[in-house]
Amino acid sequence: MSGLKSLLYETHTHTTLCRHAVGDPQDYAAVALQRGFQGLLVTCHNPMPARYSPSIRMSVAEFDEYLRLVFRARQVWRGRIDVRLGIEADYLPGYECWLEHQLQLADFQYVLGSVHPHVPEFRQRYGGAGAVETQRAYFRLLAQAAETGLFDCLSHPDVIKNERPDEWLPERIMDDVCQALDRIAATGVALELNTSGKHKEIAEMNPFPQMLVEARQRKIPVVVGADAHDPERVGDGFLQALDLLEQCGYDCVSYFVNRVRTDVPIAVARKRVQSRPATPAGIAQWSADPPWPAVA
Ligand SMILES: [Zn+2]
Ligand SMILES: [Zn+2]
Repeated sequence: MSGLKSLLYETHTHTTLCRHAVGDPQDYAAVALQRGFQGLLVTCHNPMPARYSPSIRMSVAEFDEYLRLVFRARQVWRGRIDVRLGIEADYLPGYECWLEHQLQLADFQYVLGSVHPHVPEFRQRYGGAGAVETQRAYFRLLAQAAETGLFDCLSHPDVIKNERPDEWLPERIMDDVCQALDRIAATGVALELNTSGKHKEIAEMNPFPQMLVEARQRKIPVVVGADAHDPERVGDGFLQALDLLEQCGYDCVSYFVNRVRTDVPIAVARKRVQSRPATPAGIAQWSADPPWPAVA
């Protein structure tokens, strides 16, 4: 692993198979290479039983196609960028056996665990209790997800705030957040710092800074991911995310390959992504990049 230690991966990307993203893993690989990443984890939404929000994920029948797409990208881009198979797996109590079985079907290198409050299954169970109770339930589920032992990292770990932005007051929910973080810290599972939050109604990354400070005090590792549903968003906000991590007391950023965590000093990670920016102005300008070159 020594050769990889100073390098960084884009850790959260999707494909057209999830029905709300564009691009093939190869399109994401091309942008990741252009933007100075060592590797790319493809983490499309996992297949769930037939009636579980089928409109936003691949079906069971498409699972093999997903594996083929990622494998193909890995082959084509070998030697240029390290493309790896991951998955973003939905967590709700009762689906543990489904996930346990699914995660054995392929050589997943990184497994994100996600509590998605916008899926009907979550809303039916937890949505009727009022905004604050729903927020509290969300953070309990996050801890429960970590305790299953199924996941390496918990995605966008305060995404509940975007369900009812008018009802989101961090100070009101902080006790629940801290209790969840205590439980997560005991498992060793990482938290994601998801940069896509800055494009949402509450325009900040997920999780919010106070939660990162509390996570740092509990020595919970953090993985940065763009949650790119479009190749153009690969690496979006990574430098800001590294700055935020530092402000919250972190000196390392992490990623998983082969389900093993690597910690990269932030100073080294920053240098690396800056060393090959697509424009002289650096990564802040990524959204203005010209189209990436076509690759045979
Ligand atoms: Zn998605
Ligand atoms: Zn997600």
